[in-house]
Amino acid sequence: MVTLLNVTMRILRRKWKIFAAALFVNMLLLWTISWCGNRQSNNAEHSKTSEPLNVLPSLTVIIQDFDVLQNDVFTSASYIAGNLSDVNVLIVSEQIPYPPVKIPTLENVKLVISQPNPGHSLNSSRPELNIRSNFVLFLPDGSLIGQDFYRIYKSFVNKLDLSRNEAFAITVDNSRRNCYGLDFKMKTWTLNIGERLDSKSCGYVKGDHGLLLQTKHLFSLMDPFMPSTFMSLYIQLSLVYVKVVMIEDLQLQRISTAPKDAKVLWEQKQFRQRKSEQLYAKVGVKKVNYANGHTEWYGCNKESTRCFDTVYQNMPEYLYNGRWTPPCCLTHLRETARHVFGILDACKARWWLEGGSLLGAARDHDIIPWDYDIDIGMYREDMLKCNQLLRVSKERFVDEKRFSWEKAIEGDFYRVQFSESNHLHVDIFPFYPQNGIMTKDTWFKTHKQDTEFPEHFLKPLTRIEFAGINASAPNNVREFLEYKFGKGVIESPKYPNEVIAF
Ligand code: ZN
Repeated sequence: MVTLLNVTMRILRRKWKIFAAALFVNMLLLWTISWCGNRQSNNAEHSKTSEPLNVLPSLTVIIQDFDVLQNDVFTSASYIAGNLSDVNVLIVSEQIPYPPVKIPTLENVKLVISQPNPGHSLNSSRPELNIRSNFVLFLPDGSLIGQDFYRIYKSFVNKLDLSRNEAFAITVDNSRRNCYGLDFKMKTWTLNIGERLDSKSCGYVKGDHGLLLQTKHLFSLMDPFMPSTFMSLYIQLSLVYVKVVMIEDLQLQRISTAPKDAKVLWEQKQFRQRKSEQLYAKVGVKKVNYANGHTEWYGCNKESTRCFDTVYQNMPEYLYNGRWTPPCCLTHLRETARHVFGILDACKARWWLEGGSLLGAARDHDIIPWDYDIDIGMYREDMLKCNQLLRVSKERFVDEKRFSWEKAIEGDFYRVQFSESNHLHVDIFPFYPQNGIMTKDTWFKTHKQDTEFPEHFLKPLTRIEFAGINASAPNNVREFLEYKFGKGVIESPKYPNEVIAF
């Protein structure tokens, strides 16, 4: 009994010691937490008045899109990283630069190859994983930030209202920048660079400059490190409603280098052109309208293929991606239509707009904005009147304007393509009358509107404006369309596949 008591006492004593130790650790922990909290709030208060280095948002300088043959990457990076120890320099290149670019071996300089390379880790191909600062500065090649910049930068960001959706365009040596508005219409694949949005902000800035933005804004973009850096950033910033403000207090310095020779300048121009093409292909820009009325096209042409692949179930892929027919394709479709209509009119064939094409003409005198081909009907016997149709019934051929004519493999009709490689086309369906009803030999089960119809709609034929030409059409267009598609079809646009909302 005594022994048992002794043992119990000893255990209790030991437990007490453990308890006391635990209590002490807890108190210490509590005290540490409260001390840290105080320190933080002290610092927060402190940062409002002065600029203690340890709490300042540091900066990541990003150098991207430099010309491999002639650049100032080494000079910029070594100057910035060498003089400003809390600034990181990130050099981003899609491929390992070749010819090699000299990179300073400093702790705060890093080269990131953004296209994954065999044997390289994810970390080394993701620029974003190397950004720890609250702000990033995209630096144009050939410029740098000095100590003076950094001092002004620190007080500038301290005064900023971080809740505002703003980025800042910074001049290089006071050089001229022009401010434009930018509107990317995703649905129509069109980028409009025009009048500035308001007196304070820009959507796009032209001229040598750097772009300072909050990292949180950078990370809200789809792909912040796409080539053609500045245009890419401007397009993406517009999609997340971040406006760009031109500021004067901050200035980048130009690195004075020898003037570049003509060959290098030409190569740089080519390089920039390639980068824009890459960017526009990635984002889906096929047409750029500039403020001065100039238009650039990036879509398909006579030599290329069509912008979209085979259409399944009457619904082209771009519709599933929330886009309409690329503008280049609409233009080439109109061109093909005008070419074919001209030929049919010249040989006095009786033809008329069919299906979706007639519907588009009735709605707004044009191709339906998401339609992908043009359908017309014609009297089968009139094929004998036109050389091209006589010829195409025997062989496929390319005409003198490089349109390609062929008999469709799908059935008894003919197809005129924009070119041999670009398969945008007009389908010509030969109809013939049978007891007052127009009929044909090939029918499309997926096209509800593909039906026979009374011949009286063609007696007489009328004219309707379509794709910039006076096109032949059935009389009583509305009645004809409602006969084929159903009541109210002109007023209620629908995508071919009703699963997708309009
Ligand atoms: Zn196209």
